[in-house]
Amino acid sequence: MVEMDNRDFALNNEAHRASHPSERSYLILRTGTGKSLLHFLPVLNLIALRGWKTPPAPRAASRYVQFSGELSPTTLTKGRGEQGLLRARKLAGRTHALCALCREEYPASLLELTHINPRANVESDREKLDLWNVMLACGQCHSLFDKGLLWVNGSGVVQWEGGFGPDHLLTVWGERAAGGRCLEFREGNRGFFRARLSYSRVLT
Ligand SMILES: [Zn+2]
Repeated sequence: MVEMDNRDFALNNEAHRASHPSERSYLILRTGTGKSLLHFLPVLNLIALRGWKTPPAPRAASRYVQFSGELSPTTLTKGRGEQGLLRARKLAGRTHALCALCREEYPASLLELTHINPRANVESDREKLDLWNVMLACGQCHSLFDKGLLWVNGSGVVQWEGGFGPDHLLTVWGERAAGGRCLEFREGNRGFFRARLSYSRVLT
């Protein structure tokens, strides 16, 4: 075995480079194909640059919903201006009133104008102005009534559709409201409550 210290190796390497000037320090890049990697450097550079310069493919626009309608409608509030009048007539100056469905008393600011036959379902202007087609309800009852989970039968009795677990807050809420008479039910608006049933998911 030939012992070679670092100094001998350096001198030997220097002598090799002197006799092979074209290879210089690229000896370690030899590929075994007769060419050094240096020959392929322009190609490798081109590939690298193309990869770097090519913008990433656009991703699916999942962040935003697709909507082609008017985002700042002004006609909605103008078109429903009668609702403020209906609400004021229902409150009749009271600062507190009962929710028509759960019959709990609420401050007026927490009571919402609730359409019995949905306004979108109302065709005539006369019906849009009908105090018998609206009632004051608390936010929770309004939401449940709109979804058909809380509904009023043909006798004017509030019904609870259920579907939640026995300990769920909505079950407690619905069962408490159910069984009592809707404060806004009368013979003259029975048809509105029936129309609501055909509009909501509850069908009887
Ligand atoms: Zn209520």
